[in-house]
Amino acid sequence: MKKYKIAAIPGDGIGKEVVPAGQQALEAVAAAVGGYQFEFEVFGWGGDWYRQHGQMMPADGLQALKGADAILFGSAGDPDIPDHITLWGLRLKICQGFDQYANVRPTRILPGIDGPLKRCRAQDLDWVIVRENSEGEYAGVGGRAHQGHPIEVATDVSVMTRVGVERIIRYAFRLAQSRPRRQLTVVTKSNAQRHAMVMWDEVAQEVARDFPDVHWDKELVDAMTARMVNRPATIDTVVATNLHADILSDLAAALAGSLGIAPTGNIDPERRYPSMFEPIHGSAFDIMGKGLANPVGTFWSCVMLLDHLGEQASAQRLMRAIERVTQDTSLHTRDLGGTATTAAVTAALCRFVAEA
Ligand code: NAD
Ligand code: MN
Repeated sequence: MKKYKIAAIPGDGIGKEVVPAGQQALEAVAAAVGGYQFEFEVFGWGGDWYRQHGQMMPADGLQALKGADAILFGSAGDPDIPDHITLWGLRLKICQGFDQYANVRPTRILPGIDGPLKRCRAQDLDWVIVRENSEGEYAGVGGRAHQGHPIEVATDVSVMTRVGVERIIRYAFRLAQSRPRRQLTVVTKSNAQRHAMVMWDEVAQEVARDFPDVHWDKELVDAMTARMVNRPATIDTVVATNLHADILSDLAAALAGSLGIAPTGNIDPERRYPSMFEPIHGSAFDIMGKGLANPVGTFWSCVMLLDHLGEQASAQRLMRAIERVTQDTSLHTRDLGGTATTAAVTAALCRFVAEA
């Protein structure tokens, strides 16, 4: 029987609660659909590992992940360790080490979820945000000098390469082309950022010529926030830089009802390395360890993982079960105004998967 090796990295905070829930969901789907199995290897990296070893993951950790068919990730972020250490030491190390340059973030208002936009119908909000995931504002280039002196200076230099910009914009056009509306919005800030963002616009213009069947437009990132709120139905696929898309996708998740629902895939489109799937939320210090975490974002990330593996029937089956969960308000966790626990939601989901 076909076997998929999945590396599971719960990480920190509620990652430790939602990743096991995701594993249960994947096991339930494999059992229901048949024909393949999952083999999980769980890595205890993150804040606890840091306290023991002085680093978030072993120096040769990527080597251990390399043979996996996919990675299921929870969150990096610990109340007692600075955020830039946890993020760069684990999640970004994997994203950059495996050149997962396309970060794909679908957003929909799932059945039974009450979004905050009063005039927005479920069919008005069906987006995929494509985030550049390898360079730009999060390239890690910069430094500090004169630390502790009045003349202290610090820089974070945004780095954009033509290759990096072209590959993400091409990926986004291809994705837009595969969706029914064939529509792409290129988010920019070329009025104020007059070098890299101008190149970004030029590359978009060039790549667009290869996709005559995709309607595309350009929007400044600040105006994009207002458009997402006021005219959601005018948006389908979106491509934006690392920083811009990071912010826009949290807004998108909130507009769709909760940060706890939103999924993401860190994709290496060339499949040289394993891709990594994770909910977009973080460690949620305020609710960690209490069984209150909404596991739906992780379940939806598992749908993306199954799609990536080519198990489309399983992906669809899991998505149907997720929609049955959200439809039933007694299965809503606290972030959605309900009282259900992570365990109860997970048990119901696995039951629906078996029935579907
Ligand atoms: P967060 O996503 O952890 O939490 C924001 C708010 O949303 C909190 O009130 C939290 O309770 C709620 N929330 C998030 N996910 C939820 C879920 N599944 N169910 C119910 N409620 C949920 O963001 P933050 O507070 O900005 O960050 C906390 C830590 O997580 C920081 O250390 C940060 O660096 C880290 N972080 C990591 C990642 C990642 O690893 N991908 C992403 C974002 C934040
Ligand atoms: Mn973010």
